[in-house]
Amino acid sequence: MKANYHTHTTRCQHARGTDEEYVLAAIDAGFEELGFADHSPWRYASDYVPDMRMTIDQFPDYLHSIRALREKYKDKIRIKIGLECEYFPSMMSWLRGLADGAELDYLIFANHHAGSDEHCPYFGHHDLLELYLPSILEGMQCSDYAYVAHPDLYMRSHCVFDAPAKEAARQICREAKRLDRILEYNLLGLRKGKKKTPKGEGFYPHPDFWRIAAEEGCRAILGTDAHAPEQLYDGDYRRQALEFLGELGIEVVETFPMRR
Ligand SMILES: [Zn+2]
Ligand SMILES: [Zn+2]
Repeated sequence: MKANYHTHTTRCQHARGTDEEYVLAAIDAGFEELGFADHSPWRYASDYVPDMRMTIDQFPDYLHSIRALREKYKDKIRIKIGLECEYFPSMMSWLRGLADGAELDYLIFANHHAGSDEHCPYFGHHDLLELYLPSILEGMQCSDYAYVAHPDLYMRSHCVFDAPAKEAARQICREAKRLDRILEYNLLGLRKGKKKTPKGEGFYPHPDFWRIAAEEGCRAILGTDAHAPEQLYDGDYRRQALEFLGELGIEVVETFPMRR
């Protein structure tokens, strides 16, 4: 089954295209199942206004729009509704309530910030491995999440697969195996390429991380992480990813149990 559960919408403020354009691209690209998992809103203790996720006020429209598309295109594609979430300990019960109330199909875990983005900058732009690692290890304990998105995101800012990077990979992969968490091989990272950007960033997915994932016996899932409709035409990246993961002997799953 061709499926992707990592699709964004413009509500996150760094994606483009209408919700319907994502669905039409997915149908055209031959997906049987498409999951929207836009960056989740949070109920902050402060008056902080994030610039990379939807606000709480936008959440009803997100639901309404994707539900309407699910109905409109039900003969062509199965649509699932989820969110891409952080591990923000003080807001987790609020998130669970939101997900239950909205009857979301799934939540994915992405560790972009530790504690809350009110206080912690984006790991992709700041080399904070000492904060990234405990945050992802703690978040992975949470059984609410269907899978762990781009577990090797830290390599974007850490750049060199040195001893601390290796140790982080070992701990993340060992814990994923112990808890039976699926790790996402992120196709947006692959699309962006294995070259340093002008900002001096490194890259993910990082082959050395995935070599360790293979040694630890982890399972993987492919995630398009679409921030534009045309990114759903990801056939070449899927092929490259499956070839690489196949060489490593990593089991790739297509889907996972839904929340309901
Ligand atoms: Zn994003
Ligand atoms: Zn994403």
